[in-house]
Amino acid sequence: MEDLTQHFVELVRRAATDLPSDVENAIREARNREDPGTPATAVLDTILENVELARKQSTPICQDTGTPIFYVYYPAGWSTIVLRKQIRDAVAIATEKAYLRPNAVDSLTGRNSGNNLGDDFPSIHFHEWAEDYLKVDLLLKGGGCENVGAQYKLPDARFKAGRDLDGVRKVVLDAVLDAQGKGCAPGILGVAIGGDRGSGYIRSKEQLFRPLGQRSQKPELAALEERIYEEANQLGIGPMGLGGNTTVLDVQLDALHRLPASFFLSVSYMCWAHRRGTLTYRDGEINLTIPISEEEIRALRVGDTVSLSGVMLTARDAAHKYMVESFIRSHQVPPTEREMYERLKADLDGGVIYHCGPVVKKENGTWRFVAAGPTTSIREEVYEPEVIEHFNVKAVIGKGGMGPNTLKACQAFGAVYLQAVGGAASLIANAVVEVLDVYKMEFGVPEAFWKIRVENFPAIVTMDSHGRSLHDDVLAKSSEVFKRLIGG
Ligand code: SF4
Repeated sequence: MEDLTQHFVELVRRAATDLPSDVENAIREARNREDPGTPATAVLDTILENVELARKQSTPICQDTGTPIFYVYYPAGWSTIVLRKQIRDAVAIATEKAYLRPNAVDSLTGRNSGNNLGDDFPSIHFHEWAEDYLKVDLLLKGGGCENVGAQYKLPDARFKAGRDLDGVRKVVLDAVLDAQGKGCAPGILGVAIGGDRGSGYIRSKEQLFRPLGQRSQKPELAALEERIYEEANQLGIGPMGLGGNTTVLDVQLDALHRLPASFFLSVSYMCWAHRRGTLTYRDGEINLTIPISEEEIRALRVGDTVSLSGVMLTARDAAHKYMVESFIRSHQVPPTEREMYERLKADLDGGVIYHCGPVVKKENGTWRFVAAGPTTSIREEVYEPEVIEHFNVKAVIGKGGMGPNTLKACQAFGAVYLQAVGGAASLIANAVVEVLDVYKMEFGVPEAFWKIRVENFPAIVTMDSHGRSLHDDVLAKSSEVFKRLIGG
């Protein structure tokens, strides 16, 4: 079994320093719903500024990095003893590197262990599953929001709450009212109906791994999630409890079987700093989450198989020409293009460019990638080195490889070129799980910048940051054979 300790360290770093895009988007939408000039907008502006700064500096989003809670889904044959040790080692290293604050306190002596290791600390839950790969989910659960979690026994006469979904609704709203701003609202509610006192809280925390906005597959629970979300926000508690239109960012429910005599309702409250991350690992495959750090890029070598998840931009001829001529060589951003420039800077910092002219379809107002294979990359050789340097791009995906100037830029600025499989357009389109935006549609569909979220996008490192190009190696070898064959 491979040593995954460094991958776990990276998972912790990402979770602690970079908010997932669904959470950040929900905060941005909340900001737009608040009235201008109110404490709510001031709070949300500060939160968003803080999130951007933490990402840029790779520093913790909040000083309380909480309890690291790991859910490990492993295939048959993996050793949980080895995985537990690697995860614990990674947590100690991440604490040493100041990605985590030392938070593990001995309940008897009051002493802090100093390295986030203790009895059942970090919290690790193992589940064997039928898949052939490892998946590790991590949640960093802060103390302030953990303290405002609540468990109820139904019926509860205080609220005329019976043993039914309306009773559930009433006590969840009570939990939100009681929390006020103490859990750093706006919060996210993970709720479990039923179970026992222990299993209910565990299931309620598991809900916090669902993407925001994803509704329960059980229709009655999906409807209740919507209703509680609407009503909790009518309470007007607002960001940090200072009043406003957004008290919760989402509500996610699940139900467990229970004893006839018991009806527990468990609420886990998560603050706006909803730090979670996922690592997936298949033997021999390296998983990268965008944005990618230079450290991760420098660890890659020609021939490595990678799987990318996160948000990337497509860009080909017109888009590269535009970036270089409008922003890099012009030395001055035209005022009309300032907003576009800021967007590109944010999307490409630590990001990925995909040389692709996709086939897209609009269905019910939403874009969907239908075919999305790579285009020939060498056309961008005249632009790519400058783009990599200026925007801090960490990976370029395409086909056929690139030239010596891009290879030099990969060495100098810590980037790689990744080969996607040409023609595998449908397979790759399936890895595009969401089209988030499109910029410069006036360039035409194939040439516009498409901002897409991908999951497990497959590619191979063919030019690395150590000066090696598989394309050059193959060309040199095949040229030698060619010479031999023609008797040169
Ligand atoms: S509740 Fe969350 S945001 Fe507030 S201090 Fe704790 S971890 Fe930080």
